[in-house]
Amino acid sequence: MDVLKKFDEVVVATGVTPRIPAIPGIDHPSVMSYAACVAEGRPAGKRVAVIGAGGIGVDVAEFLLNATSPTLDLAQWQQEWGVTDPSRSPGGLTRPFVEPSSREVYLLQRKDSGIGRGLGKTTGWVHRAALKAKGVQQLTGVNYERIDDDGLHLTFGEERSGARVLDVDTIVVCAGQESVDVLSHGLRAEGVTTHVIGGADVAVELDAKRAIRQGTEVAAAI
Ligand SMILES: Cc1cc2nc3c(=O)[nH]c(=O)nc-3n(C[C@H](O)[C@H](O)[C@H](O)COP(=O)(O)OP(=O)(O)OC[C@H]3O[C@@H](n4cnc5c(N)ncnc54)[C@H](O)[C@@H]3O)c2cc1C
Repeated sequence: MDVLKKFDEVVVATGVTPRIPAIPGIDHPSVMSYAACVAEGRPAGKRVAVIGAGGIGVDVAEFLLNATSPTLDLAQWQQEWGVTDPSRSPGGLTRPFVEPSSREVYLLQRKDSGIGRGLGKTTGWVHRAALKAKGVQQLTGVNYERIDDDGLHLTFGEERSGARVLDVDTIVVCAGQESVDVLSHGLRAEGVTTHVIGGADVAVELDAKRAIRQGTEVAAAI
């Protein structure tokens, strides 16, 4: 804070922290946030439930399904999507073959609409196809009742019917984000002109474009 007080203007772009929903048993050792899973490299077990099927939930499910990213391995990518050099096969098409995942992954959402509907128009179909090809079990309209040593307890719909326990050893929470902004209040109190941008400003949806636009506009204006 003392270092920042010396500047004429400060841009706070400290991003977000994963939102942890108030599910009974959420502090069970089987539970981790998406950040712990993808950024901190906390190991996941063989049977995983992903809570929340927005953009991050879909990305995390795909991350858990593949030991290496197929987009970094041309041969694997071609095999999975059934494409090859046109000199090898008419039209450059072959029969797709998708290696089964070594993990069993459940992707869950509270809404009862189809999973992945809110993904980008030009890329959403790729993610939906990849989840289907790898056999991800997609459950919608779920209520998260509790988490314990037996796994994740679910019911379905407003009537909370169809009680079911997912016998999973890992639960990854992808249930939104909360802004991280521990700086702007103190800086403004010290009279420093402070701009809050990106996830630190609004954390409701994944939108790098908005963060970049805000940063560009602030930079151009000061
Ligand atoms: C798995 C995943 C997939 C995503 N996919 C997409 C996508 O397809 N399309 C899209 O538009 N968006 C996507 N996003 C969201 C996108 O990453 C964010 O919208 C974007 O990064 C927001 O930028 P930001 O600058 O606000 O925060 P960030 O990029 O999160 O940067 C914040 C930085 O501030 C640092 N920091 C935090 N606190 C402090 C502090 N006190 N002092 C100093 N530094 C600090 C952090 O370490 C971090 O480096 C995805 C996010 C995740 C997690």
